[in-house]
Amino acid sequence: MKKTTCADLSLESLPGISQIVCLDGVESTQAVGRELALEGSAEKTLVLAETQTAGRGRMGREWESARGGLYMTLLLRPESGVRFLPDLSVLSGEAVAEAVTSLYGIKTRIKKPNDVYAFHPRRKKWLKISGVITESASVNSAPSWLLLGVGVNLNNDVKLDTAVSVQSIAGRTVDREAFLKEFFRAVPSGLAYLGREPLKRKNIKNWFAPARSVLVCAFSYWGPGRDYAAELAAAGDPAVYLKNTGRKAYQPDLLAAPGAKLSRYALARDYHLTVKEKLAAALAGIKKEFPGAEGKMFCDTSPVLEKELGRLAGLGARGRHTLLVSGELGSWFFLGGIALDLELPADAPAADSCAGCERCVKACPTGALKGGALDAGLCISYWTTQAKEKLPAALAAKTGGFAYGCDLCQEACPLNEKTR
Ligand code: SF4
Ligand code: SF4
Repeated sequence: MKKTTCADLSLESLPGISQIVCLDGVESTQAVGRELALEGSAEKTLVLAETQTAGRGRMGREWESARGGLYMTLLLRPESGVRFLPDLSVLSGEAVAEAVTSLYGIKTRIKKPNDVYAFHPRRKKWLKISGVITESASVNSAPSWLLLGVGVNLNNDVKLDTAVSVQSIAGRTVDREAFLKEFFRAVPSGLAYLGREPLKRKNIKNWFAPARSVLVCAFSYWGPGRDYAAELAAAGDPAVYLKNTGRKAYQPDLLAAPGAKLSRYALARDYHLTVKEKLAAALAGIKKEFPGAEGKMFCDTSPVLEKELGRLAGLGARGRHTLLVSGELGSWFFLGGIALDLELPADAPAADSCAGCERCVKACPTGALKGGALDAGLCISYWTTQAKEKLPAALAAKTGGFAYGCDLCQEACPLNEKTR
């Protein structure tokens, strides 16, 4: 591992960063970040590499990360307020997208949880420009570090048909320092983004400027009369079932275990497709009813605070398991919606329905639920559907048989009693 000086960067231009570790060729900045974390390096150490030979993201598996790209890992303490790694991933992707758009006027969009795409006007295609990786590094099984890994095709030569560099869309060389400055400006200070007033941070008008109302919909995916054991058995081999339904599972050992369980939401077609079809039909109906109306749909893949909007729309309250929960549907529902340029009467926000209950918190086998927040580093659902690392043995012993997703906290909820 050869150290370099990062001559194009100065610490003063990157507020909040405590030190920059500049490297030439490394296997991955994430691996270096892990080592530095375990050595007790300073918080907000930024690790940068000129090239990576084995970046850990999906992109990294497909080609060598060539010179000219941005390959970085930022070391954060969990106390930074970042308790939900998938959200950190999305938020960091948004910051990449905002930086690229504001510096080069390029249209971008996020593919949750960790990819950023840019529109290439000449090729008339959305192509991948960035991937984000988050992980917690644990000492004695307690997460003590969060590592935020970001790779961006700035000026590197991209060989895949599905990806592109920012340079090739912008038509000019991208300045790494200018990009990093913009990126750290777009990421909220201290990365404590799960603040108490998220709507102040995320105004839907930033995403759909004409928005005057938001129609938020709950799509129930489980209910009375459904037999979980029977449906799981009908799905057959879990690994084959997941592959056939277009899902990626990350813990093959768990899937291969006898009696491996899948989360209820996975026992159906990919909900993104179903929800989008329903929302598209609803939007078409609205446009017929209100000629000239415009709207923009969201379902899990847009930078929109869906759960908070759902709460404000009265669909449910935030349960202690962090999901929305309603007296009528329990918590077995997906959220989606349409931002509209129509002024519609607002519903009343849902009131808290947990009232002293802590059943979900107690039912969580790993202690992932604390203080109304989810620690993804301890959540089976996160590890089985998104983490690219092998599940630590200490957690693998506590999955309750779940190999894709985890329903244990929702199963325990009295509001799901009718629908269990
Ligand atoms: S999904 Fe499972 S591991 Fe995650 S918080 Fe709920 S019970 Fe805990
Ligand atoms: S189990 Fe209890 S605390 Fe948890 S979401 Fe349901 S009602 Fe709220």
